[in-house]
Amino acid sequence: MAASVAGPEIERLIQLLARLPGLGPRSARRAALHLIKKREALMTPLAGALQVAIDKIQVCKVCGNIDTQDPCTVCIDPRRDPATIVVVADVADLWALERANATSGRYHVLGATLSPLDGIGPQDITIDALVARAHESHVSEIVLALNATVDGQTTAHYITDLLQDANVKVTRLAHGVPVGGELDYLDEGTLSAAMRQRTLF
Ligand code: ZN
Repeated sequence: MAASVAGPEIERLIQLLARLPGLGPRSARRAALHLIKKREALMTPLAGALQVAIDKIQVCKVCGNIDTQDPCTVCIDPRRDPATIVVVADVADLWALERANATSGRYHVLGATLSPLDGIGPQDITIDALVARAHESHVSEIVLALNATVDGQTTAHYITDLLQDANVKVTRLAHGVPVGGELDYLDEGTLSAAMRQRTLF
């Protein structure tokens, strides 16, 4: 085992940073050193922001988004179309769609996708709440914005079956050629999906 180069407090900081996604022990050490060097400019405000997050962040009881208020900012925004609910697996997907300005609808965060291999069943994600929302009279479309993976598509089919008797149109994101993509570089599955889902020009 490598010898410690710093006291236990700093070692603990490094260990905690190393648990962040995308950071290994080496980058965690670099990040810790950066924080220590920028103690006033970065470390103190970061510690403050973390404490505020611990105190204030909550899960929206309507859609499952995380925010400092419940219902969340998206749910209470009057410019949002209450007729459309965009279903995502994770808050990260909601953020991605918001960054892209992709929809003016509201959201429903499932928390995960169904995954028999990982032991994630319907009771582990917020499907019941989604079905209840789909039955509200002002809702007319459910957009399944789920990953184009086996688990994502299994989840999409499962939800579609459950929404049979709700008076809503169920749609899903198109699969196909990415913006800026070159056909020669695409895998066969993407190419054939793009051909099947071609649209009128
Ligand atoms: Zn919400």
